[in-house]
Amino acid sequence: MTTPLTERAAGRTEGDRPAIRLDGVSKTYGQGRNGLPALDNVSLSVRPGEFVSLLGASGCGKSTLLSLVAGLDRPTAGRIDTQGRKIAMMFQEPALFPWLTVSANVEMALRVQGVAGKERRDRAAEFLEIVHLGGFGAKRPHELSGGMRQRVSLARALAQDADVLLMDEPFGALDAMTRDLLHDELERIWQKRGLSVLFVTHNVREAVRLGDRVVLLSSRPGRVAEEFPVGIDRPRVIDSPRVATLAAAITDRLRQEVLRHGR
Ligand code: ADP
Ligand code: MG
Repeated sequence: MTTPLTERAAGRTEGDRPAIRLDGVSKTYGQGRNGLPALDNVSLSVRPGEFVSLLGASGCGKSTLLSLVAGLDRPTAGRIDTQGRKIAMMFQEPALFPWLTVSANVEMALRVQGVAGKERRDRAAEFLEIVHLGGFGAKRPHELSGGMRQRVSLARALAQDADVLLMDEPFGALDAMTRDLLHDELERIWQKRGLSVLFVTHNVREAVRLGDRVVLLSSRPGRVAEEFPVGIDRPRVIDSPRVATLAAAITDRLRQEVLRHGR
């Protein structure tokens, strides 16, 4: 069942225990001499209600890190603690069932929680309202634009009643204008619902636009290179001078990391 907003708000002040905590996490794919170290000794935490952007060059282990937090794979070393919180994941491709309506796609998340019949349809409609897709429930995914499909994906994530959202370059395939709109939507929903978000991107401005903090991963293997607190008031505009200035500084640092690895 959906936790009322008041309880979620209380959850935000439940002390200093992180919503997500990684302690010395390493991940090597394969065995022995053929082993590929993807992550090396990564320690990182996300506070309840915090929005953390995870930034790094492609291949540095960002998706690996998210799959470990989601419990889809196990670390080779180290510990991950999500305190049994419910976690939802969003990918670059929305992964909707094409033969189901938009509403039925969202209802899938409610069905597994045992929500039946009319209540399930009503709740799906509410989640579609939240992402500003009220009235689109009877459409099929192919009838929607890429940005709208990502909204459906977000509605489905919310319907899972998760309070931790893991996002893997979710807006990477969208045009700039659609992406900016979805940044606004995500920021609004994140604040209203008190979600804890770990948002992966290789887009520096996007990381600064959204994050309370930007964590920069180095490449091969991925390590935390540096963390940047983002002290810019919200709501933010991706093209504002303050976002651009911090993004430029982080880009310099990212460039050093990439050069260090000879690419
Ligand atoms: P990113 O998301 O930052 O682009 P990934 O986490 O996808 O990086 O990949 C990190 C490294 O681990 C890459 O070198 C990639 O080729 C490798 N890798 C990722 N998944 C697997 C896998 N299932 N098996 C073997 N190697 C993998
Ligand atoms: Mg990836």
